[in-house]
Amino acid sequence: MEFDKELEKECVHCQKEFVIQVNEADYDSWVDGKALIQDAMPYLTPGQRELLISGTCDDCWNSLFGSNDEVEDENDIEIDEEAEWEWEPEEDENDEIHNLEDDEDNDIEQVDEE
Ligand SMILES: [Zn+2]
Repeated sequence: MEFDKELEKECVHCQKEFVIQVNEADYDSWVDGKALIQDAMPYLTPGQRELLISGTCDDCWNSLFGSNDEVEDENDIEIDEEAEWEWEPEEDENDEIHNLEDDEDNDIEQVDEE
């Protein structure tokens, strides 16, 4: 399918410019209200349709509303990205335990001496 029209749409949120290739006849039938956008231009991705309808690009749409219908708290996502800490067992703890055991032995020996 060859497209004869290039639509330049700027996202109203991030001001990124997108070029969407369509058939002018298809585009006109949608603009004129003769067809729904998904019927007039079924070759567009959902993100491209959203950009034409609401001026919101796919990235902004996802960050605004999430990929699911349920709007999750965006803070949850940020926390996940920051949670790169790794739990590493501290070998020093074992040494301390050994040291404590040694100390106890010493105490017991001292008690015996008294
Ligand atoms: Zn955007």
